[in-house]
Amino acid sequence: MDVVVSACLLGESCRYDGASRPSAAVRHLANATTMHPVCPEVRGGLPTPRTASERQGDRVVMRDGTDVTSAFERGARLCAEEARAHGVTLAVLKAKSPSCGVGLIYDGTYSGRLVKGNGVFAELLEREGDVCMVSEEVVESSRPSVEHPVALVLGTGLGHLSSLVHPVRHVDYHDIDGFPEDARPMEGHLFEATIGTVDDVPVVVYPGRIHLYQGFSAVEVTSLVRHAYRLGCRVIIFACATGAIPGNAHTGLGILTDQINLTGVNPLVGDASTRGLQTPFVDMREAYSPYLRTLARGVADDLGIAVEEGVYAGVIGPSFETPAEVRMLAGMGVSYVGMSTVCEVIAAQALGMNVLGLTLAANYAGDGQVSHETVLEEAGRHADSFERLVRGILRLL
Ligand code: SF4
Repeated sequence: MDVVVSACLLGESCRYDGASRPSAAVRHLANATTMHPVCPEVRGGLPTPRTASERQGDRVVMRDGTDVTSAFERGARLCAEEARAHGVTLAVLKAKSPSCGVGLIYDGTYSGRLVKGNGVFAELLEREGDVCMVSEEVVESSRPSVEHPVALVLGTGLGHLSSLVHPVRHVDYHDIDGFPEDARPMEGHLFEATIGTVDDVPVVVYPGRIHLYQGFSAVEVTSLVRHAYRLGCRVIIFACATGAIPGNAHTGLGILTDQINLTGVNPLVGDASTRGLQTPFVDMREAYSPYLRTLARGVADDLGIAVEEGVYAGVIGPSFETPAEVRMLAGMGVSYVGMSTVCEVIAAQALGMNVLGLTLAANYAGDGQVSHETVLEEAGRHADSFERLVRGILRLL
């Protein structure tokens, strides 16, 4: 996987004052991928050290009043060409910089105030499309540690990943706050979380879940998410079995890009404060982290694992879809349909967690071929690919 990185994040002394801003998390990612360090300002011909500059609308002006817009644009062009030449899919860029800033930059008054917008280089990359741009803050917030393990919530037939965990401790689901006392595992599920490591990455694995169709509430089915958050997890990976919508997806492994909640319920309804939330009005524009999705896609491509991407629709079940419902879902742009995950993703977003959604489409929705046994059988066929994909993602985090 090829990644472009602001050189100063890797310790190069290219900042305006000749300093660097190395980030341990970005260095880790650099070591695990094919990294291309770039400094658009130096590539544009500006010296190091140099006078600080900030964006003022379309212009870039140094503190002494010198207009350096053309140098910034030249450097951005050269660095974007390099990214294109290497087929880069991810750019990790220094936050707030007039060249590299993503989403927020200094406003040109040298007062420390920030405005919405991109630096000159980030703006160019965004215009050219197809590169996921994140600041180092996103990489750092996704970096696992003992204090912040990665949570894995596994669906039907995918629970075997628990066997990879070097366990430190087990937690019976029934000891988890809010988990219903009368919930019993279905075949293929286990109701015991394992805290430990996979390939030295701290994790908490939940090898089964409960569903709305079993009669549990949206708040109850999201109790594992809140437990993971309380344990310190800031990245949560959901894996679920689904049906592929004919014409929009094939059976096999998929990365979820977005979701449609068709369950008719929402875990944020009611008194949000009792669930540790500041507000129930949660921004869902990036329900599935673009950064984590890009890493997953990169791992799959590097390992030669066939993976599609698409929108997930969550329905309450337990009956399967009618032909009319399948046609409706296809028309809505849905690739995968299932009976879990959507409420959990909403709960995770409300807590500010970074979410990755993976699916195993075991059959085509509406084909009448699905049963618990066929899902287990299909999951077994993809077990090795799924395991390699998850381990590859954990290695990059
Ligand atoms: Fe760092 Fe980008 Fe500024 Fe260069 S242009 S010093 S890489 S933030």
